[in-house]
Amino acid sequence: MFIVQIASECAPVAKVGGLADVVYGLSRELEIRGNSVEIILPKYDCMRYDQIYGLQITYDNLWVPFYDHHVRCSVFFGFVHGRKCFFIEPHSNRNLFNRGVFYGQNDDEERFAFFCRAALEFIWKTDKQPDVIHCHDWQTGLVPVLLYEIYQNLGLTHPRVCYTLHNLKHQGVTGEHILRASGLNRHNYFFHYDRLRDNFNHSAINLMKGGIVYSNFVTTVSPRYAWEIRNTDLSYGLGDTLHRHGHKFGGVLNGLDYEVWNPETDRHISKTYGIETIDGKYRNKEALRHRFLIRDAYKPVISYVGRLDRQKGVDLIRYGIFYALVTGAQFILLGSSPEHGISESFWHLKKELNDQQDCHLEIGFNEELAHLIYAGSDMIIVPSLFEPCGLTQLIAMKYGTVPIVRDTGGLSDTVFDADYAPRPYHERNGYVFRDFDRRGLESAMHRAIGLWHAYPQYFRELMINGMRCDYSWNHPGQDYLNIYEYIRKK
Ligand code: ADP
Repeated sequence: MFIVQIASECAPVAKVGGLADVVYGLSRELEIRGNSVEIILPKYDCMRYDQIYGLQITYDNLWVPFYDHHVRCSVFFGFVHGRKCFFIEPHSNRNLFNRGVFYGQNDDEERFAFFCRAALEFIWKTDKQPDVIHCHDWQTGLVPVLLYEIYQNLGLTHPRVCYTLHNLKHQGVTGEHILRASGLNRHNYFFHYDRLRDNFNHSAINLMKGGIVYSNFVTTVSPRYAWEIRNTDLSYGLGDTLHRHGHKFGGVLNGLDYEVWNPETDRHISKTYGIETIDGKYRNKEALRHRFLIRDAYKPVISYVGRLDRQKGVDLIRYGIFYALVTGAQFILLGSSPEHGISESFWHLKKELNDQQDCHLEIGFNEELAHLIYAGSDMIIVPSLFEPCGLTQLIAMKYGTVPIVRDTGGLSDTVFDADYAPRPYHERNGYVFRDFDRRGLESAMHRAIGLWHAYPQYFRELMINGMRCDYSWNHPGQDYLNIYEYIRKK
């Protein structure tokens, strides 16, 4: 099968969070299974160009309609760790993708609407006829709309669209001008509740809603989250749309690329290790402590790796740091936030805890360092308010690091409580708490730290149970192929 992924992120070149890992990992799995995969991305100035091999212009003078004019684009091709990637560069004085950041600009909706139009224009002009176009999140929600309303009439009749929702908190709710910008000119037709009009903000359009309405199949990234966004306020207003389109909607748990995340082969860690050689993990704990000048002591290292966002439970993360320290554990944090207030508060906390020998906060994005933290920690906390899938707990488990997570979304589907899960002991792999408050987190951390001190042998079993789990792309890769086959025949 020939699959084109259109996305705003792909690891490791353009990564903000899990979306990037999914686009890369799924593409790799599909290729291993004999399919041909191409990935189309914007050409951001802030990409990791050191991770692209053989970057060169492959198509110049791609003229893309935008409002009442055309913007000339160059399309580059390069390999990202073996994946075939196209990067679209618009030559416009608006510098659409030369902003030094991926997201967070006032005109994000316009930037990505343009990207959708450009990606389809490229597919059409180069006469590609993919069997499936797989697009992701609000940034590419317009792809199926443009395909079925414009490009199909121009001859792009073959592709079917699979659309994956990674986070419903961000839907691309924006003004009607985006319709004009992208050439969807029949205003009354598109600005309708059956199509792009937002369910609650009556004067706005919703790009994610457009993606759901027009795609042939819609997935989200875990079965639990699929239930939550249909039946709770985690849908952020799209529950009704998902119910209406329920016949073409399902949850597929994200996989993890064990080629990238594998303690047996990881080049970024101090000592590789596996289940049989788990003692090697302690060399990484030493290296981690050494790197951050944390003292060597008989204490567990607890960590947090991830975006510092309200979704991730920033107040609970902060509380978790203090709770770890007062109970005699050590804490390491790696995270960043584009939100000024949150960033500021963690810088403040960093200064406050600067002289602590048991704690280090690293504020920023550092892919290589993340590997060492997963390898060198004993436990990791993921106290999210909601979590569509969550990759940090999956990575942690692969590295024998015990996850302490809140009972929500993909965390509930993948972490099974050491004491209370209705599962056999050998399937229990972490700690889970229900209430999104300090007592909830504290009770789970208390149990985890307690086991580490009192019953190291049982703690080690938990670590190994996590390492044995198979959260690779093997199963979800097949699930996606089944979905692709299904929509091709429709
Ligand atoms: P989300 O997609 O909501 O950000 P996920 O848990 O699905 O959360 O994926 C997070 C991914 O981003 C993981 O691969 C994690 O290691 C990585 N990550 C997040 N923040 C950082 C950071 N500051 N430095 C390095 N890697 C990070």
